[in-house]
Amino acid sequence: MKIKANNANSPIWKDVYSHSMLPEVLQPLHEMATNLWWVWNHEGAKLFGKIDKDLWVSTEGNPVLLLQSLSYKRIEEIQADKVLMAEIQEVYAGFREYVDTKPDATKPSVAYFSMEYGLTNVLKIYSGGLGVLAGDYLKEASDSNIDLTAVGFLYRYGYFTQSLSMDGQQIANYEPQNFNSLPLSQVTQSNGEPMVLEVPYPGRTVYAHIWKVSVGRVPLYLMDTDIPQNSEWDRSITHQLYGGDWENRMKQEYLLGIGGILMLNKLGIKKQIYHCNEGHAALINAQRLVDYIQNDGLTFNQALEVVRASALYTVHTPVPAGHDYFDEGLFGRYMGEFPGKLGISWQEFIDMGRENPGSNEKFSMSVFALNTCQEANGVSWLHGKVSQKMFAPVWKGYFPDELHVSWVTNGVHMPTWASTEWKRFFYEHFDKKFFTDQSNKKYWEAIQNVNDDDIWDLRKTLKKKLIEYIKVQYKQNWLKNQGDPSKVVSVLEKINPNALLIGFGRRFATYKRAHLLFTDLDRLAKIVNNEKYPIQFVFTGKAHPADGGGQGLIKHIVEISRRPEFLGKIIFLENYDMRLARHLIAGVDVWLNTPTRPLEASGTSGEKAEMNGVLNFSVLDGWWYEGYKEGAGWALTDKRTYENQQYQDQLDAATIYHILETELIPTYYAKNSKGYSPEWIQYIKNSMSQIAPDYTMKRMLDDYINRFYNKLATRSAHLREGNFAEAKEIAAWKEEVAEHWDSFQVESFTCSKDLAIDGPVVGKEYSFNLVIDRKDLQGMLGAEVVVTKENSENHQLELLYTKPFELKKEEGSKLFFELKTTSSEAGVHKMGFRVYPVNKELPHRMDFAYVRWIQL
Ligand SMILES: *Cc1c(COP(=O)(O)O)cnc(C)c1O
Repeated sequence: MKIKANNANSPIWKDVYSHSMLPEVLQPLHEMATNLWWVWNHEGAKLFGKIDKDLWVSTEGNPVLLLQSLSYKRIEEIQADKVLMAEIQEVYAGFREYVDTKPDATKPSVAYFSMEYGLTNVLKIYSGGLGVLAGDYLKEASDSNIDLTAVGFLYRYGYFTQSLSMDGQQIANYEPQNFNSLPLSQVTQSNGEPMVLEVPYPGRTVYAHIWKVSVGRVPLYLMDTDIPQNSEWDRSITHQLYGGDWENRMKQEYLLGIGGILMLNKLGIKKQIYHCNEGHAALINAQRLVDYIQNDGLTFNQALEVVRASALYTVHTPVPAGHDYFDEGLFGRYMGEFPGKLGISWQEFIDMGRENPGSNEKFSMSVFALNTCQEANGVSWLHGKVSQKMFAPVWKGYFPDELHVSWVTNGVHMPTWASTEWKRFFYEHFDKKFFTDQSNKKYWEAIQNVNDDDIWDLRKTLKKKLIEYIKVQYKQNWLKNQGDPSKVVSVLEKINPNALLIGFGRRFATYKRAHLLFTDLDRLAKIVNNEKYPIQFVFTGKAHPADGGGQGLIKHIVEISRRPEFLGKIIFLENYDMRLARHLIAGVDVWLNTPTRPLEASGTSGEKAEMNGVLNFSVLDGWWYEGYKEGAGWALTDKRTYENQQYQDQLDAATIYHILETELIPTYYAKNSKGYSPEWIQYIKNSMSQIAPDYTMKRMLDDYINRFYNKLATRSAHLREGNFAEAKEIAAWKEEVAEHWDSFQVESFTCSKDLAIDGPVVGKEYSFNLVIDRKDLQGMLGAEVVVTKENSENHQLELLYTKPFELKKEEGSKLFFELKTTSSEAGVHKMGFRVYPVNKELPHRMDFAYVRWIQL
């Protein structure tokens, strides 16, 4: 027998956690490092910079890794440094005072669910705008002292980092994160072992570790399935953000929704409001329904009343194609056991995710969210309107304008996005109350009285810092890509700190139209090569790895930037992330945005620019549709001239060049003897006093509280009182109405004679009399006239107004209605009549959208 030459089984690894050896006196540092408070409180970040400047840079600002990497010698030095030790104590005292403040019990408590959170670059659990918004929201919830708990995933690989090959091809790198060097802590059981969440998946249990990120006062719990208890197939659930196939997405959304609620249950956390940030999290409501049915003995219909009354759905996507749909087979494989637990049929369950119940449409997460959340909102006024149209098919019988779908315009967390220099400026020039009342225009107004020189100096400082940053980054990346070193030098030499600098940074999705500026290269070359009025552009952004078009666009722009006439005039920076964003949106003069209207639901990077005195030049879409003010930025008109997108693009490009040539550049270069344009400074002052305050996260959070949270908290408390008495009553009422809806009959319906003969004459009053016999139906009914007009362009009916009938008397099962109305507008209108169920306990009509159109 030949002896085997080698014999080894696979290595068996166990995670061991070595704790940092910080001495007791330095424990405050450790405590502060593991709370993201330092991300937006500059004194925290500054302190870590002083602890070890080189490590602060090499760890890319990760204080946990910094402390873990501190040399023994440095630890000794710090302890011997009295000044530094005193500063640690001082910062720590401020930190403790902040985190020890108890939540404001007068405001509703909230559980918040999101696939991604952009809190700091150190924590790579975000891809772009949606995540950054969620991250900003948590920070403001902390500052505003809201009792909020957030739920998400701790991704092993997160979203990719981007590098570019020499020819401009995007390379996506997925780097595993070492969780033990991140500002978070693992949730453990009383015996010190990691807590394990068990989530029932079809035919198996998926296990997850739970990690806690402290965002100031707000806890964010993250699930992590990359643990040995799971099969390879399930370990990957939390590997990548927006990666994998549809089945993986199904598994993720199952985990976020079902697992998210089970995790909160396990942690003993209950809140008044459940907020889905985008439809990804909608399955929370499936599990919440199960919980009420199993724990409180409610029926499905009763539980649905309670769940809906406490749930809000925020949609971020303006086109149906951007929403998540699962085909019935896949959805059934994961959710198949739910109808049984809910006491309804599979058909009834899957129909909750369909615009047309009974059809074979895929299961839409958005429609399920709409059916299980009492309130829904888009993320800007315009996007609210677009969402009403997009969701109109869910509530047949109503016009988009009538839907309860509302809006809250996105904002940004000022302390995160305003540069340290600006925050210092606000501190010096604004009222001290400004920092706790950032959306108050009164405080921002003070900028009008600041000396122009001061503002210009600040702008210059930030631009210089950005250019330094660009030089370092650009050199590193270029050399990494094996570029010709002499070319780097020639690019960097050409960067002119006195030139007008325009920035563009965003995802390279086609609708963002990053190519627009490059439509007419000759004209662009003339603009950037004007020696008297130099101007430079910085571009940056990632394309989704599956988006070939977006990657092609990046390549195209990189190629243009390498042409001699654009060298150093158009610069493409790799790897747009929060760190680069923070430099960019503070350092450029103008922030450019050119989306196809109305596809930019809100956009937030331009709002970040606002916090730094950077002026916006953008299509009137998303937030800018509301934000733009004359003399405070520039706008591309909202009028669409061409149906054909290519023509529209050409026209928009021509408009961009024109505005640059005739307005923006002349304003910037109308320089006085001190070397700046007073007119430009006035634009900055106008933009910061008139626009910035409305786009703070403070304003946005207050809007959510005032428009939704308070309302939901009040109503859901009412529904739960006395062992869910009101919820049971409403459910019983709806069941009765649903059962007998077809039984009521119109006994008579007449109008004034002259109306019947002549048609309505403007200014004249007419009356309508309607008698309805409810027969078996017990529930109350209402009736209304609906007056519409045909849109001459798209031939769709547009709602002009509705007016309810008055209930004159009730006799037995009969209802006598009357309506007196005056025709106020000449023209061809269409008039219709609707009957609907009436119950003052309903929050809005869409809550129980039964409609019967009747004939006069
Ligand atoms: C703010 C931000 C975004 C979102 O910007 P939009 O204006 O919505 O495109 C995307 N990525 C990063 C890194 C950001 O900081």
